[in-house]
Amino acid sequence: SVNSAVLVFDAGNKLSLVNKFGQKNLDIDGASGQKIEEIFDVTEEEVEKTIESLMEGYEIQKKWKRRGNGISCLVNPSIVKDETGDPYCIICMVYDMTKEEEMMNAIVEANKAKSSFLANMSHEIRTPINAVLGLDEMIIRESKDENITAYAKDIESAGKTLLSLVNDILDLSKIESGKMEILKGEYHLSSLLNDCFNMVHMMAHEKNLKLIIENDEDIPGTLYGDEIRIRQIITNLLSNAVKYTPKGQITMKVKWQALPNDYLLLGVAVTDTGIGIRKENMEDLFNSFKRVEEKKIRSIEGTGLGLSIVRNILELHEAKYGVNSVKDKGSTFWFEIRVIR
Ligand code: ADP
Repeated sequence: SVNSAVLVFDAGNKLSLVNKFGQKNLDIDGASGQKIEEIFDVTEEEVEKTIESLMEGYEIQKKWKRRGNGISCLVNPSIVKDETGDPYCIICMVYDMTKEEEMMNAIVEANKAKSSFLANMSHEIRTPINAVLGLDEMIIRESKDENITAYAKDIESAGKTLLSLVNDILDLSKIESGKMEILKGEYHLSSLLNDCFNMVHMMAHEKNLKLIIENDEDIPGTLYGDEIRIRQIITNLLSNAVKYTPKGQITMKVKWQALPNDYLLLGVAVTDTGIGIRKENMEDLFNSFKRVEEKKIRSIEGTGLGLSIVRNILELHEAKYGVNSVKDKGSTFWFEIRVIR
């Protein structure tokens, strides 16, 4: 009467019993004396290994396909030993996973469709935003009326926020659909760092925060790699540091170390004297749409996408990264990436 298949094999791995459910739903003949590897699409070695593990007392679950009709099964084998400790029989509970698998496939497909929809939409939205920002810039340049200039500056600020949000969504959907690629080219590390500094300098100045950059003295000149993505990571960390620091300073330290074959390890650490992060929240930081301490940061603009994109780009580069933080004292976000000289 059980709603899944129960198969009993003797000590020689020959089928000796099967319940009605198994006969009907998995089309197994109880009198056939078939072995596990004849019923399921597995090798003899895998069955032997499974039996060995069962003898050692491990709990086992296998995803095996029914030979012949390819039905996906979840097989839960257990072993019954006789009084001398030798195998007496093997009992397999077998669940038909077809529906679950179909559901999983549908979810994966739906998620892909969502990502590609988002990617297309974000791309389409960028064009009109850029047009609005371009025309708005002309108003700022040409208007002599203070009020109108002020309105136009508000449009500029909102437009830029919107553009960066759309860019983040585009990046995330690229990542989710596996389309984010590393694009390599030559670049100057010092001008990259300079650009990052300039991107956040105004924001830091407006909040009265000191912005300090400490480079290793002999910082390498030309490097080869994905400049845009490295710049994106650093800018993200720096702008977060500025965003989540009410007073004090932001320090970016850049160091490097030579590796064999013209590779070098570039280390960047951004330290702030900001609100800090509780230990229990640290793991969540790098997940999409996750913001921590939401009550406290409600007034600070953000979507929780930045660090998730940073994490994905770093993982694509096989880089190491992490965060050290003390609540109310500040945080250090760091990464170490292998680049080519
Ligand atoms: P957001 O768009 O919300 O800034 P991020 O993905 O960049 O998204 O960061 C995720 C969350 O991590 C933030 O919402 C914030 O709670 C926390 N966080 C990030 N950087 C810092 C920092 N330097 N100091 C304190 N909290 C931070």
